[in-house]
Amino acid sequence: MTDSHILVSEVGPRDGLQSIDAILPTAVKNAWIRAQAEAGFKEIEVGSFVPPKVLPQMADTAEVVREALNVAGLNVAVLVPNLRGAENAIAAGAHKISIPFSVSETHSLKNVRRTHDQMIEEVRSIAALVAEQKVPPHFEAGLSTAFGCTIEGPVSEDLVVRSAERLMDAGVAEVGLSDTTGYANPAQVKRLVRKVQAAVGKEHITGVHLHNTRGLGLANALAAIEEGITTVDSSLGGIGGCPFAPGASGNIVTEDLVFMLEAMGLNTGIDIEKLLAVRTILSEALPNEPLYGFTPDAGLPKGF
Ligand code: ZN
Repeated sequence: MTDSHILVSEVGPRDGLQSIDAILPTAVKNAWIRAQAEAGFKEIEVGSFVPPKVLPQMADTAEVVREALNVAGLNVAVLVPNLRGAENAIAAGAHKISIPFSVSETHSLKNVRRTHDQMIEEVRSIAALVAEQKVPPHFEAGLSTAFGCTIEGPVSEDLVVRSAERLMDAGVAEVGLSDTTGYANPAQVKRLVRKVQAAVGKEHITGVHLHNTRGLGLANALAAIEEGITTVDSSLGGIGGCPFAPGASGNIVTEDLVFMLEAMGLNTGIDIEKLLAVRTILSEALPNEPLYGFTPDAGLPKGF
């Protein structure tokens, strides 16, 4: 391992909340984000700029961004599906903008009704807009369905690599690998991270976004870290779940990920006791949503 510092990027307020029907009140989102920043989190994806008709859970994202900008030292990240979303994200003042690019073109057509060529044009327009800003936000593309697609099945690794190159060429600062469907296994993660690193340069792929649909989330995270990945997305309590796998969390569980990293002697900068306490905010506000995680149930080992 080359770096002992791992950035755990919390995506629960975006990926977690967009996957459940309940709408978390803005004040609770703000309290959650603040509490997690106080536990030592340096980056939180606080929402996504999508039409409220599509995702009413994310309708208050501009407000949540503005509030999160008051939290000292926090990198405020958002997801955008298109140029319009990027305009809104920039207007709100987000520090980091991520756009998902579905490597499975069928998935792309179904989700955002755009071909790869159309998506690349969209990314070019956003990159131009970003470049015009006095303080440009960090602009990243997530290679979603990189490890497999629920419609197409296996996704070609060459296509993942080619897509990464095209996105870099279109002007993103960085690409990330996303296991949108929870299909990834550790050998595949290692292989694909290496291939994309070789294609775009190690400094242009620092993060992975993993789901725990089949219980391999932490194994996949470790595999990525062993290949030099330094940013791992996760969500508090694995909130969001997986509609296809009852009992499986959505994203990998932040609490378990932080425990694994800290137990291994990697530095996350996170106070795990404070992190565990943040769960109360969610369990009180969303009493019907299951919160996942082994560490929260088992407690920390004696002497940890
Ligand atoms: Zn996700």
